[in-house]
Amino acid sequence: VKENGKNDYLLHSGDMDHVALHKLTIQHEMRRALLNQEFALFYQPQYDLASGQIVGMEALIRWFHPERGLVPPGDFIPAAEESGIIVPLGDWVIEEACRQNKEWQNQGMPFIPVSVNLSMRQFSQRNLTGKVSDILEQTGLDPRYLELEITESMTMDVDRASQCLKELTDLGVNISIDDFGTGYSSFHYLKNLPIARLKIDRSFVRDIQQDPNDAAIVAAIIAMAHNLQLQVIAEGVETEDQVHFLRSHRCDEMQGYFGSPPLPSDGVLALLREKLNR
Ligand code: C2E
Ligand code: CA
Ligand code: CA
Ligand code: CA
Repeated sequence: VKENGKNDYLLHSGDMDHVALHKLTIQHEMRRALLNQEFALFYQPQYDLASGQIVGMEALIRWFHPERGLVPPGDFIPAAEESGIIVPLGDWVIEEACRQNKEWQNQGMPFIPVSVNLSMRQFSQRNLTGKVSDILEQTGLDPRYLELEITESMTMDVDRASQCLKELTDLGVNISIDDFGTGYSSFHYLKNLPIARLKIDRSFVRDIQQDPNDAAIVAAIIAMAHNLQLQVIAEGVETEDQVHFLRSHRCDEMQGYFGSPPLPSDGVLALLREKLNR
């Protein structure tokens, strides 16, 4: 262990070897993957609970690794965030989602907004609004068809978040709070941030039928959202019973395997065509 610093230390210290090496490997591989276009976006439809219509779709990144096959985001997003690669990767996601959405519109498909997940690192960039604005201009997508999903932890610094969100909403983009209920919820920011909707985390929806506490929490979130004039969507909806519960509590929308799993772009196109022919 000498002046060479951290990496050298890590590479020569038993158990840490694997962790450090794995991180370096995955960082290197993600850079290569971005150049080689190994990433793709899948889209999960969001349904209006009253009409059953598709009213949105969430873009979810997938990595088709040449040797390891399909790598789920949970296996690389944390490393991408830690290393900072999430910034170029996240830019690519926004661009690809906007490009694809505009292409479907150009093909005469129904106009359905797309939601993109933002990481903390992206959210704290100074020029995020500029980037989003450039992407919208380049792709020609009307901002109202782009929604950005942030999590509660990103709004901890309410003043900064508020400034950033105001710039984004001034562009015409919508903001939603993802995984609602799992982070630091404060009525203060719900009241003060320019948010269009809440996404109730899957962990509350899962046991809605069995656990009266979860049922009470979900019912309360829906009622609160509506009192604040926010739209509310339930995540991870898997059963018809859950749909009945959500509908009877006037939840606006749902997303989950019950409606559809995330689909590759040709699968979405087929759904949009179907919608067109109905
Ligand atoms: P998330 O934003 O909460 O996305 C929802 C996750 O729940 C997705 O997992 C989706 O496939 C899964 N899911 C949807 N319906 C159901 C259901 O009925 N039951 C269950 N058990 N799961 C369901 P996925 O695609 O593996 O993504 C995991 C997480 O990775 C996402 O959670 C998000 O935090 C992150 N992620 C995905 N794509 C991106 C991206 O482009 N950028 C960033 N920063 N993060 C991303
Ligand atoms: Ca999300
Ligand atoms: Ca979520
Ligand atoms: Ca999540």
